[in-house]
Amino acid sequence: MVEKFSKNFFLYLSKNKVLNKGAKKWGLKLGAAQVVAGVSIDSVMKTVKHLNDKGLVCTVDHLGEFVLNKEEAVESTQVCIDTLEAISATGVNCNLSLKLTQLGLDIDRQLCIDNMHRILEVAKKTNNFVRIDMEDYAHYHVTLEILDELQKKYDNVGTVMQAYLYCASKDLENLKGRSLRLVKGAYKESTDVSFQSKEEIDKNYLAIIKQHLLNGSYTAIASHDHEIIENVKRFCAEKQIPKTQFEFQMLYGFRTELQEKIAAEGYTMRVYVPFGKDWYGYFMRRLAERPQNVSFALKGLFSK
Ligand code: FAD
Repeated sequence: MVEKFSKNFFLYLSKNKVLNKGAKKWGLKLGAAQVVAGVSIDSVMKTVKHLNDKGLVCTVDHLGEFVLNKEEAVESTQVCIDTLEAISATGVNCNLSLKLTQLGLDIDRQLCIDNMHRILEVAKKTNNFVRIDMEDYAHYHVTLEILDELQKKYDNVGTVMQAYLYCASKDLENLKGRSLRLVKGAYKESTDVSFQSKEEIDKNYLAIIKQHLLNGSYTAIASHDHEIIENVKRFCAEKQIPKTQFEFQMLYGFRTELQEKIAAEGYTMRVYVPFGKDWYGYFMRRLAERPQNVSFALKGLFSK
């Protein structure tokens, strides 16, 4: 009950446009620096290098929310391009994650597609891969449609499937053979479209992971849930699915010891490293997922 209240409270805060705007001026506050790798490309490249040295590969995400004008969408696109160039120049082991709303999806679909083309051209030139994060259900179908269109020209792009959606397993059948990140799902969705209980979501999560792996498709299992991770390791060993067909992913600043242990066992362990001034919505969603993370925020409140 308290957990549900705190989840809804932080999800509500994550959507507050006034606080989102204000936070851009504050710099990293409330303990966000523990889960966000600075505000510049330089700072995130340093973090990635440090993680690479520990045997972890990365994906970086330039944080951005509520992009409602063309200029901001073009600016975000340019940061994605500059980030890909910086990855190539520094030689770090890292790809790029992004959100279509950052590139103007809510303003003009074609603008967003054009921006994706610009980014994917640079990704292709620098031999890199771009993962489109999955946002709320309102953007779900359009994201899959845009992915379809982009994959006609590029093979270096993929997206994410959320296990809380009833339609996940059915839609996965149309994505056979494609590289996908599989997650439980981070947004508040209605009972019309999504499972609500942890038991149902966990059950569907394991089911879709196994389905995608058995289809022979590259699968990124993005979860901090050690039970899910152990289950996947056992399943892959039993079915002789090679370690090159899947990877684990976790967020920067979460379960660091477990990340290093998984990498030391010979699995690909990718850390999702967010950076940028727009940290507020991302940070609030992390607090919503795990109320224990509030201790980050409380410590941050009392530290300089
Ligand atoms: P949870 O259900 O949150 O936790 C399960 C159990 O794991 C807990 O009960 C606890 O025992 C343990 N645990 C979890 N966290 C910790 C911790 N910090 N310390 C100790 N134990 C812990 N969502 C989207 O909707 N779209 C996306 O594109 C997307 N991309 C993501 C990318 C990455 C790399 C990751 C890791 C997540 C992403 N998510 C995304 C978020 C995801 O959907 C979940 O909301 C989030 O990962 C929480 O679920 P979980 O699987 O980590 O486990």
